[in-house]
Amino acid sequence: MTPYASALLGLVLGAGLASLVLVMVVRRAARQARGQVVSRHHLAEILQPMRAAVVVVTERDKVLAASTFAKSLGLARGSSLGPEQAVALLAKARRTTAPQETEIELENAAGETLRLALRAVPLSNGAAVIIGEDRSEDLRFSETRRDFVTNISHELKTPIGAIALLAEAADSAVDDPEAVHRFLGKLAKETQRLNELVSQIISLSRLQSDDPLLVTAEVSITSVLQAAVNRCAEIADGRGISLSMQAAAELQVSGDARELETAVTNLVENAIAYSEPGARVAVTSGIDTDGMAAIRVSDNGIGISAEDQARIFERFFRVDADRSRASGGTGLGLSIVKHAAVAHGGEVTVWSRPGQGSTFTIRLPLSKKRGDQ
Ligand code: ADP
Repeated sequence: MTPYASALLGLVLGAGLASLVLVMVVRRAARQARGQVVSRHHLAEILQPMRAAVVVVTERDKVLAASTFAKSLGLARGSSLGPEQAVALLAKARRTTAPQETEIELENAAGETLRLALRAVPLSNGAAVIIGEDRSEDLRFSETRRDFVTNISHELKTPIGAIALLAEAADSAVDDPEAVHRFLGKLAKETQRLNELVSQIISLSRLQSDDPLLVTAEVSITSVLQAAVNRCAEIADGRGISLSMQAAAELQVSGDARELETAVTNLVENAIAYSEPGARVAVTSGIDTDGMAAIRVSDNGIGISAEDQARIFERFFRVDADRSRASGGTGLGLSIVKHAAVAHGGEVTVWSRPGQGSTFTIRLPLSKKRGDQ
């Protein structure tokens, strides 16, 4: 073969090979491009696990795919889009060619009413997506906060009103030193009540925040009990109530010693306040069968009915408001105990029988006990 002929053959073969490679590349690119178009099946797979309620509809509003949550709320019923409000919202989004939002209420599978923030977004290819986010928790939170603020305002009004009246009374009794002395004594008591209320509100707000514990350290349960008993010894004495303490082994939990001391003190103060003179209050600690540390405060006082037991941990709930106020109660003590226990990964429970007495138990996860490495 001449050099020209071999060069020509090389050229032809080279060009053939190059075009073959080019065709393969184009086909592969075309295959890849086809692969990038999400199929209906894949769309369903993507949406299914989403926490939000998501429904994708065709240009004729037929459901193409929906998340499990959307189906459970009836936002997608087979191939049709759910409730009227969603259909109307989508129609408005299509009409205006802009995303539209509204809030609706729907029932979930458990029959609970959920508040949903609904958004309908038209897509450029004629399809549309409807997204629903569960706002029930936000709603509950703002309702609770509103109730809390109303209750606080009401509770603060009583001592503030009394302080204003007592100051006036003391002022108009300047000629009677004995009366002035009496009014000032009452004024000091009301100020003390106001002080107690404000510090309990601060304590509760902190315990309900995202980061409730001030300090996290190894805390000895025995020293928590001892601190609470020491703080309450004088009041117990004053009311003729015997206060005893029995701490099992040296148990340790991880948390904030001051918060735990306050919680146990609240329980002991209640046990004293809601018992008659001569009663017995016992503070004990031990390990429950499931390995949790248990702090128990028992009394043989007036007890609590089953109906009231369900409500005593609510803020400002009191069985007998007059008795609570007379003993300096704010109605926040048990709520603080509950939040302190929860902030430490634990819980508080109550056993009680009217006329027999009550036992409050704080259970906390143990971090160490004597003998552990
Ligand atoms: P308070 O400041 O009124 O004591 P708490 O939140 O500590 O508020 O307690 C709520 C209510 O639960 C009390 O008002 C009281 O009626 C009831 N209670 C709490 N502890 C006891 C107890 N040991 N014995 C009987 N009743 C109790």
